[in-house]
Amino acid sequence: MTTPLNYGVALTELRAINERLRVSSLRERDLALELQRQLAFTDAITTSLGEGVCALDREGRVVFINPSASSLLRWTETDLLGKELHRLIHTSCDAGCPMLDAIRSYGSYRDEEDVFVSRDGALIPVAYSIAPISSGSTISGVVLAFHDTTDVPLPSWSNEALRAAEARYRSLIEHLPLVTYIEQADTGLIYTSPQMAHLIGFDATEWMFEREFWAGRLHPDDREMFDAELERADETGKPFNLEYRLVAQDGRVVWVRNEAFLHRTDNGTPDYRQGFMLDITDLRMAETALQQSESYLRTLFDHSTDLIAVIADDDTITYLSPGSHGMLGCDPADYIGEAVTSLVHPDERGQVMDALAEARALHITPVPVEFRIRHVDGTWRWLEAVGRKVVAEPGLEGVVVNARDITERRLLEAEVTFRAFHDSLTNLPNRALYLDRLEHALRRSARSPSSVAVAFLDLDNFKVVNDSLGHVAGDALLVEVALRLSGAIRDIDTVARLGGDEFMILIEEADGLGQVLHVAERIMTALQTPIMIGQRPVIVTASTGIVLGEAHISAADMIRHADLAMYTAKDNGKDRVVVFNPAMHLHALHRLEIEHDLRVAIDHGELSLRYQPEIALATGALFGVEALVRWEHPDGVTRLPADFIAVAEETGLIVPLGAWVLRHACADAARWIAASDLSETFALSVNLSLSQFRDPLLVSVVRESMADAGLQPSRLILEITESILADDPDHVAETLQLLRDLGVRIAVDDFGAGYSSLGRLRRIPVDFLKIDRTFSTRIGTDVADTALMSSMIDLAHALGKQVVAEGVETQAQAMLLHELGCDVAQGYLYARPLLESDIPALWSTQMATAASA
Ligand code: C2E
Ligand code: CA
Ligand code: CA
Repeated sequence: MTTPLNYGVALTELRAINERLRVSSLRERDLALELQRQLAFTDAITTSLGEGVCALDREGRVVFINPSASSLLRWTETDLLGKELHRLIHTSCDAGCPMLDAIRSYGSYRDEEDVFVSRDGALIPVAYSIAPISSGSTISGVVLAFHDTTDVPLPSWSNEALRAAEARYRSLIEHLPLVTYIEQADTGLIYTSPQMAHLIGFDATEWMFEREFWAGRLHPDDREMFDAELERADETGKPFNLEYRLVAQDGRVVWVRNEAFLHRTDNGTPDYRQGFMLDITDLRMAETALQQSESYLRTLFDHSTDLIAVIADDDTITYLSPGSHGMLGCDPADYIGEAVTSLVHPDERGQVMDALAEARALHITPVPVEFRIRHVDGTWRWLEAVGRKVVAEPGLEGVVVNARDITERRLLEAEVTFRAFHDSLTNLPNRALYLDRLEHALRRSARSPSSVAVAFLDLDNFKVVNDSLGHVAGDALLVEVALRLSGAIRDIDTVARLGGDEFMILIEEADGLGQVLHVAERIMTALQTPIMIGQRPVIVTASTGIVLGEAHISAADMIRHADLAMYTAKDNGKDRVVVFNPAMHLHALHRLEIEHDLRVAIDHGELSLRYQPEIALATGALFGVEALVRWEHPDGVTRLPADFIAVAEETGLIVPLGAWVLRHACADAARWIAASDLSETFALSVNLSLSQFRDPLLVSVVRESMADAGLQPSRLILEITESILADDPDHVAETLQLLRDLGVRIAVDDFGAGYSSLGRLRRIPVDFLKIDRTFSTRIGTDVADTALMSSMIDLAHALGKQVVAEGVETQAQAMLLHELGCDVAQGYLYARPLLESDIPALWSTQMATAASA
């Protein structure tokens, strides 16, 4: 700017304008407009002079600024118009505010020097003159004319070196990743580094001139906290330090960490604050996200029915999830600080400690451990747990254990295991478990094998109970037998059920056969009391085979031997104990063969009948015949009943076999009778076994056999054994009555061989007593037997029953029997069992006998 005109000229001009304004009659409110108009004029002049000019109203607000002034101050005209210019004064250089003073108190022209803050935060030393604009007696504003600072001496600190230094610090500060600021204690912010614009989106025009700017930026929720911190900092003299939220121009919430230090003047009054703000929004967001995910996880934990625990290095519990309440039965918090072992079942403590040690050793894949923990109700819950050491997770030091309740599964497993080794009806061990125990026992007793014994027990006639009383009754009977057997053995022994009516007892630590037999005896005694099935007492007997251990014998062989001994007990008449001996092997082989062959014998027509005559002793005439079954084995050898009846009984084959006999014998007899009209008393005797007798179909089989053959019922005598009479008396009486109702007669076979008393016969509706062969053999030679035979005959007669003597082989026997009053005799003396074809001939002989008598 080299023009000779200077600001002094311009001011003179301005004064002239003011003078004109003063004398004009324009109203006050038009003054400003007029002023502006005038100033525009002035501007044109001053601009051409290159001088900075700025006019302020009475409040100090910029009403006019020319380009020179705005470029000097480094604010644009639009930035400044309407703003209080004195806010830009860096007051640290001067405590007062000459501009306002000038407007308010001085009415006169003066020169000033100040440091102004530029829009970008730079400090600009400026020299200027202030001239009041008066309107009448009032001052309507001031005009500032900025001096050419090249002419005036700079403030003392503003030499080049200092400027350069200032520029370096400024650059440093403006490149920090934070906002720095200086705030005057009384008038507010005087410097804010440009990073602030990035932080909150506003620019300096807002925060330099707006009094309420910062208050508006503070997040309402943080205001209280902010004020409290400010108060605390001022009171204690300690730095202000707070994290709080600012609201950015676009509404964003910006988290800042704000630290500031208050400088005081020498006399202690607050002067200015220096501070910085760090954008911690990302950090906060991350923290919030962390908190959220933590609270999410916690919610998961809390609602999980699993047990989550943290076990510290000293084995104490530092955390237990609320979800574990169900497993513990009490507040999980009660266990915090407790040793983990206090919860764990003593049996699994070792395992749990090992697993913890393993987890701490940082094994990558956790191995699940199963253990029990105590429920407050005193029960134990099974858990399956994995432990994992948590690293790099402060606050979570230790092993995090994740466990779920597997009690139900465990119970189920236990149940399944139990079922696999126990019989479901009686809960006794089954064959598999028995075998296992036997094997163990044999191994343990390798030095004295005979201290181990196996007893194989099979109920006699169980099948009949099952068939006649039903399966429910059969099951009840088996359960009761199981109870009695269990009660009869010693604690160290084992009773197992193999299925059906077969039981096996393992006797251990026995000292020899004597003690084993003693156990067996106790078992047999335990079964003696009849078992009540409903209201019905059932007599149960058992056949038991026993075998003692021997060196190197296998469990399987022992069982096989006991089985053989049991079958021998059956063959020997049941209800007894038989000790195994090696000869039984042969017998058993034989027996198996019979069973197999007999099954097909009936269908293949291998059965046949013999008939043995019975003679009326009084007349010597033919009384009748007894049908006796034979098995014409395909090997050509005819088998006697002794070879196969027992097997047939045991296997139930006796039922179809007996039916076959009945049917054929009835047919034969009917034919004979039809062929000869002479014998009016002829009777056919047919044997019935126990199983047949218990067969519910017996009565109909008998009825149909007779009907189909056309045989009169009065011609049929059914021979039953004493063992039948020993059966349930009600059932026996009922069946006998049904048979007699058909019109058939009943004989008790082999009488005297068993236990049935004569007294019992009184109540049983039978027609004949067939005295056992042994009595016939001994009469005449044995006085006692003769006497017994005599009294049996007398008693039978007294009861209205006829007596048949069987096994009569000599004439002497026949004569004596006749003397004693016996009615009928049968035996080799008269005839051996004959073929069916021989009977008609017999018939004619007898007719001859009858004719001769
Ligand atoms: P049991 O009913 O006592 O039959 C009489 C047995 O004595 C017959 O033997 C017969 O041959 C034999 N015997 C006859 N007289 C004499 C004699 O003077 N001296 C000797 N020592 N024995 C004589 P068998 O035929 O071998 O029958 C044996 C047993 O088989 C029968 O005894 C009977 O209990 C049973 N049995 C035979 N056939 C049948 C049948 O069809 N059904 C049933 N359930 N059992 C039958
Ligand atoms: Ca007989
Ligand atoms: Ca007999």
